[in-house]
Amino acid sequence: MQLLVDGQDTLGECVLWCDRTQRVLWTDIQRSVLYAHTPASGETRSWPMPERLCCFALTDDDQRLLLGLASGLALFDFASGELTRICAVAPEQPGTRLNDGRCDRQGRFVFGMFNEADNPKEAIGAFYRLNADLTLERLPLPPAAIANSICFSPDGRTMYFTDSQDGAIRCCDYDPLTGALGPHRVFVAAGVVGGEPDGSTIDAQGCLWNARWGASQVVRFTPDGKVERVLALPVPQPSCAAIGGPGLDTLFVTSARKEMSATRLDAAPQSGGLFAQQLDVRGLPESRFRLSTLKIGLVGLGKIALDQHIPAIRNNRQLELVAACSPRSTVDGLAVYRSLDEMLQAHPEIEAVAICTPPQVRQAIAEAAIAAGRHVFLEKPPAATLGEGDALQALAAARGVTVLAGWHSRFAPGVEPARDWMAARSIASIRIEWRENVRQWHPGQRWIFEPGGMGVFDPGINSLSILTRLLGGGVVVQGAELRVPANCNEPIQAELRMQGGAGVAVEAHFDFLQEGVQTWSIHVAAASGETMALHMGGKVMEVDGKVVLDEPEREYPRMYEHFARLVAARQSDLDMAPLRAVADARLVGKHVTVAPFVE
Ligand code: NAP
Repeated sequence: MQLLVDGQDTLGECVLWCDRTQRVLWTDIQRSVLYAHTPASGETRSWPMPERLCCFALTDDDQRLLLGLASGLALFDFASGELTRICAVAPEQPGTRLNDGRCDRQGRFVFGMFNEADNPKEAIGAFYRLNADLTLERLPLPPAAIANSICFSPDGRTMYFTDSQDGAIRCCDYDPLTGALGPHRVFVAAGVVGGEPDGSTIDAQGCLWNARWGASQVVRFTPDGKVERVLALPVPQPSCAAIGGPGLDTLFVTSARKEMSATRLDAAPQSGGLFAQQLDVRGLPESRFRLSTLKIGLVGLGKIALDQHIPAIRNNRQLELVAACSPRSTVDGLAVYRSLDEMLQAHPEIEAVAICTPPQVRQAIAEAAIAAGRHVFLEKPPAATLGEGDALQALAAARGVTVLAGWHSRFAPGVEPARDWMAARSIASIRIEWRENVRQWHPGQRWIFEPGGMGVFDPGINSLSILTRLLGGGVVVQGAELRVPANCNEPIQAELRMQGGAGVAVEAHFDFLQEGVQTWSIHVAAASGETMALHMGGKVMEVDGKVVLDEPEREYPRMYEHFARLVAARQSDLDMAPLRAVADARLVGKHVTVAPFVE
């Protein structure tokens, strides 16, 4: 490999390529300096740091870098030189410092610690993740003496890491959406190649390039952990590798002079230099930590937009409410336009729209938003028909944007605990009681009884969204009775008989004329005779008649957190199972005309 910058670094590390500024960045940890070298001009710049800089990540703001300093995390502004601390890391372990770190494919910063003590150098340093909302999370990985080699497969579904002292490179499944880690396994056993594993990078073919400290080598491993090639360096302590350059096909490797005797330095005088070599494979653009907010425009300023969407967006630091559009309504302090077109023309910076209109007009708006390259959050029901839902899914996939079907009831606090309770038992039957007063909850919303408005299925579909989540899939509707007022198109009451997977019998009773106590309950009976129930739409969970959970509901805040994660992961969540159950009830159901509805 060729020497590119003869920096004589004590401990060069954390090399990475910035594709936007076309420069290679690295740190000399021991000298507390950040470097940037621009191959096109040959210029090398440096920035002194107030303490050792151990790792760092690019952000979506070219002017700012996320720093992993010895004691904690900070943001660095290239233009002003200003450094803003985010948080300390492991202050209860003063003998440790940060070490290797890198953003996952969704832009969360994953890093690990280094135990500065020697003899013994115990494995006490944890792995952490800084999430997009700047919360710090300890990862469920074994602690390390020298956490290193952190990188992610091209699809973001595998995380690689090592404890350099232990010598094996490990990996684990990594859920790109939630960030959940699976059990870890050995990727390359200790001793397969020489030296200790130091920093790594992944190329476009999913192969891992690892700098071998003490062995003058960089080794490329295939995704199944086999040695594919070995590149020699004229220095014994290569420390980290990155692939970059204008064609994303140059390998950059940092190195170190640390702990080398005068004799060894004489034999390897380029130690501490930055090396480069042209490759026949390409790298991947480095993931960036997301600092900017997701800019949102609201469509439809009705009850749900005012009650839930606006507060949920305004209370989430990852999101920014830019403007809204609605045919007639306005909101103080918010720029409101009369159509989606007008809103997007006035605010091209809007990246996502949340559509809170009645279902009948949603499809055309969603199509236009997706065609304009915007991510889309759909209020429930996500579409008026199943065909509309399929069309949106295909459009979003073709345009590469996120679509979320906002089944808000699935985010009620009792739903996931109820799912866990059911997973541990054989379930015999489920009964849904969803009874509310339409005059109280939907005053003046005439659209509900017009074609496509769904009538009592408008609230009822919420229970079906919980049911299909609890059962882990769709249901077979075996029979239904739909009672439609003589002056309406949509039912005011409905009874459904269904079957869930594994033959679970399900009945549902939907009533829009409930006076007095309002009921949003799902009762589950296990074959063992145990019972579980969700009440108040999933806010309260009861087991064998005793309340085991009663938490404040955060359905919309949680749904927006999910949306932000989906957008970061460029994934969609457009589950049509609840809408399919409603459609099937209409296909097989008996329609009965009842007394006209007068509001
Ligand atoms: P709503 O109070 O009747 O509000 C609907 C809003 O949509 C109105 O403000 C209307 O605007 C606007 N709108 C109508 N056509 C439009 C168009 N072409 N472009 C832009 N905006 C348009 O209804 P809602 O209760 O908010 O319900 C809306 C959706 O949210 C429904 O699908 C419902 O199922 C769901 N949802 C409602 C609740 C709830 O508690 N209400 C709960 C969860 C989910 P103008 O006011 O300007 O005429």
